[in-house]
Amino acid sequence: MSLDPETLEQLRDTVRRFVSERLMPLEQQVGETDQIPVDILKEMRALGLFGLSIPTEYGGLGLSMFEEVQIAFELGRTSPAFRSTFGTNISIGSQGIIIDGTDEQKNHYLPKLASGEIIGSFALTEPGSGSDAASIRTTATRDGDDYIINGVKRFITNAPEAGLFTVFARTSPPQTGASGISAVLVPADTPGLHVGPADKKMGQQGAHTADVTFDNCRVSKQALLGGAEGIGFKTAMKVLDRGRIHIGAVCVGLAERLIGDALNYALDREQFGQPIAEFQLVQAMLAESKTEAFAARCMVEESARRRDAGVPVITESSCCKFYCSEMVGRVADRAVQIHGGAGYMADYGVERFYRDVRLFRIYEGTSQIQQLVIARNMIREARSDQ
Ligand SMILES: Cc1cc2nc3c(=O)[nH]c(=O)nc-3n(C[C@H](O)[C@H](O)[C@H](O)COP(=O)(O)OP(=O)(O)OC[C@H]3O[C@@H](n4cnc5c(N)ncnc54)[C@H](O)[C@@H]3O)c2cc1C
Repeated sequence: MSLDPETLEQLRDTVRRFVSERLMPLEQQVGETDQIPVDILKEMRALGLFGLSIPTEYGGLGLSMFEEVQIAFELGRTSPAFRSTFGTNISIGSQGIIIDGTDEQKNHYLPKLASGEIIGSFALTEPGSGSDAASIRTTATRDGDDYIINGVKRFITNAPEAGLFTVFARTSPPQTGASGISAVLVPADTPGLHVGPADKKMGQQGAHTADVTFDNCRVSKQALLGGAEGIGFKTAMKVLDRGRIHIGAVCVGLAERLIGDALNYALDREQFGQPIAEFQLVQAMLAESKTEAFAARCMVEESARRRDAGVPVITESSCCKFYCSEMVGRVADRAVQIHGGAGYMADYGVERFYRDVRLFRIYEGTSQIQQLVIARNMIREARSDQ
């Protein structure tokens, strides 16, 4: 469902104001304390941020992909840890249920995810299985009307806060590869599920990851996502497909924020008797960043439009994730450079963003994996045309 242009503009305005008036002033505090204040979480729930992409019949805002990226551009303008708080609910923690869940699973979980009553996490990665996601070893073994889950998941975003885990596990253990993988919906309070201590990370303080261990964790067969075995890997890939455009949009928002900060600094800071913005070598950095961010914004919007039109966007999603995450890395690097020594100091915040944006090239498929997806699709299409 799409909003009318006026309602979308109102929502964008509200989010823009929330970001500049409530979130930006707290960036340093969240970076230092590693915690998002409770009153901010309440305001996020009241604004409907946990349910941006969840259909309206389940209490979400039901935004189209194009609308979602407009909001993600705004949310990207502040520390990415804020978005991460509800990011799993609107993407990897809910989309599996939306795309492939049974009616019962949708009715039970989506309203709680949309309101932010529970946090949803996506548990695919394992100590021995990252980029090669089809090699996971966690098992969900059928036992009468139940499944018993055993295994370890690694780096799981929002695991310490989660109420629900979408767990990818092998339901046909002798079978290796993608076809033996199923997705299981596991409430966090299920006996046998243990969340480890929060990981110490390079950046994005305020957003937490942890190991999740399943030790003879028993769930009923109704927990099997979509009620069918062997479709889990396909579900995971469909979820990531949408998420990659969303991450691209967040990278664009962050790049635009950093370009604004770098420009303001360059206009204020004087050397050799004039603002450093007057020096052509500084202008080159500003212009390169502006151009790349503009290209990324166009790419994200066009991919979102195509997805909304029902066009398959696997290649475009990977292009967005690859280009935008690499682009924001270059923009953050130039922002530090334009700030000179101040850019290296914690007080200015640019060094925090520099650390924060590094993650975008790694999670939800590394840059190398996006390159492989893009090239493989190119080759497949070329061969099918022959
Ligand atoms: C902060 C954070 C949050 C995360 N959140 C989640 C989450 O919520 N849920 C979840 O399931 N996972 C999550 N992850 C895991 C993340 O998706 C993986 O870290 C990522 O997919 C890479 O896997 P890996 O770390 O095992 O690296 P590896 O797969 O070991 O890769 C190491 C390097 O080798 C390269 N490489 C691997 N295979 C190839 C290849 N075939 N060709 C070329 N290069 C290759 C990679 O690109 C990378 O540079 C998170 C990770 C982090 C850091």
